[in-house]
Amino acid sequence: MSTAEKIAVEKSKAAPPAIRNQKPRVNIESLTHRNLLEGEFWRPVFDVPSEQFLDHMWQMKNSLYGEKKLMKVLENVAPGKFIEDAARGFRVAPMVVRVTPYLLSLIDWKDPWNDPIRRQFIPLAEQLEMDHPMLTLDSLHEQKDAPVDGLTHRYTDKALFLPLNTCPVYCRFCTRSYAVGKETDTVEKVNLKINPKRWEEAYTYIASRPELEDIVISGGDTYNLPAKHIRAIGERLLALPNIRRIRFATKGLAVMPMKMLSDDDWFTAISDVEKMGRKKHVHVCIHTHFNHPTEITDISRQAMNKLFEHGITVRNQTVLQRGVNDDANTMALLIKRLGEINVHPYYVYQHDMVQGVEDLRTSLQQACDIEKAVRGVTAGFNTPTFVVDAPQGGGKRDAHSYEHYNRDTGISVYTAPSVKKDTFFYYYDPLHSLSDDMRENWKDPKKRQEMHEDATAQAKAGLE
Ligand SMILES: *Cc1c(COP(=O)(O)O)cnc(C)c1O
Ligand code: SF4
Repeated sequence: MSTAEKIAVEKSKAAPPAIRNQKPRVNIESLTHRNLLEGEFWRPVFDVPSEQFLDHMWQMKNSLYGEKKLMKVLENVAPGKFIEDAARGFRVAPMVVRVTPYLLSLIDWKDPWNDPIRRQFIPLAEQLEMDHPMLTLDSLHEQKDAPVDGLTHRYTDKALFLPLNTCPVYCRFCTRSYAVGKETDTVEKVNLKINPKRWEEAYTYIASRPELEDIVISGGDTYNLPAKHIRAIGERLLALPNIRRIRFATKGLAVMPMKMLSDDDWFTAISDVEKMGRKKHVHVCIHTHFNHPTEITDISRQAMNKLFEHGITVRNQTVLQRGVNDDANTMALLIKRLGEINVHPYYVYQHDMVQGVEDLRTSLQQACDIEKAVRGVTAGFNTPTFVVDAPQGGGKRDAHSYEHYNRDTGISVYTAPSVKKDTFFYYYDPLHSLSDDMRENWKDPKKRQEMHEDATAQAKAGLE
């Protein structure tokens, strides 16, 4: 026996070191972020073999677009009372409905009323609530900050490019309901169809502004851009010497992850653009949009593994929604599960002031409370920043950074010195989070005016 081996044997005989200050063990079964749904979980809703279900073409062809198609599927899986309520919901919703078979198969059809995925896509009349009087379409003023159609230049060094207006799904809560989706009875849309001629104006503008370094390509959803357009847009932007960062935004990974495994053209296009960028030291990445941990399955893991192996960074932006992810445990599980599949949780957005989805908004206080609860759960770089995208075009502000917040009136006031100097931006908590008296006050234009004046005065006083 060598000396080292002898020492090792002696050590192994010795009593184990006293356990000091040991953190209590975690029950391994509580690590549920690692358990992703596997197998043919879709069978009860779509009785098809995996060759079909895992084919993005099948998913696209069988997308439930419009009320009629969706109703057919619902008839087989959902309770009758639910179907009636959904039918009435469709009549008043500002967005046309569109969901993928993948998403539908993740809904708990025994209790669709409370299901977090159902809430995001299928409106129910009985759950809808009156809009806050301060709600408007395009509350973010994306059109007012657009020098050319489909390009919003709000922050100095970055811009938002909207090359199309369709998505693989339509979310009830979409901020861009002013442009996205087919026209419904209640809303007239701005025209942002796929049109390479329109895009030329955007490229010319971007080239003319040397301070622009970062382009977010969104929509609509870049999943719906054919591979040749992904490549063309990527190449055009990479040819501009001022561009240092490019992000392709798509909710696709959350709603149709199989496309990454079955659409070779699209995957190769995005991967080639990323490689081209890498050669030029420009970071090309994907921004996606998961809202709830059950949206992450073993299929998402396989899709992410492939992207990760190709060196493609994926970041996530979540929208905080009542009854979906507005409690600390759900949010923590979502964040841990995103980390598990190598998606980087970037932002959690306070719900924008969007018409027709008052039921989904939360108070700002809830955002702040949840942020406090999740910070420390995992790596700091995997902990999202909670932001309010300030209405009236103030841009994203750290939720906690309000100048003033009156929890009774629900008015919060932000400033955005780097975006628009000397301007106050207001966010309004949903009426359902306020007292009965306060709800009455909001009906009265004079009282509204007073509440605003008071909030502004307090914000000013705080800044002095
Ligand atoms: C969100 C957004 C961006 C990107 O902002 P980041 O904070 O860098 O993610 C750029 N332009 C507009 C108009 C936006 O809304
Ligand atoms: S995928 Fe994005 S852009 Fe499309 S409807 Fe949903 S939130 Fe809106």
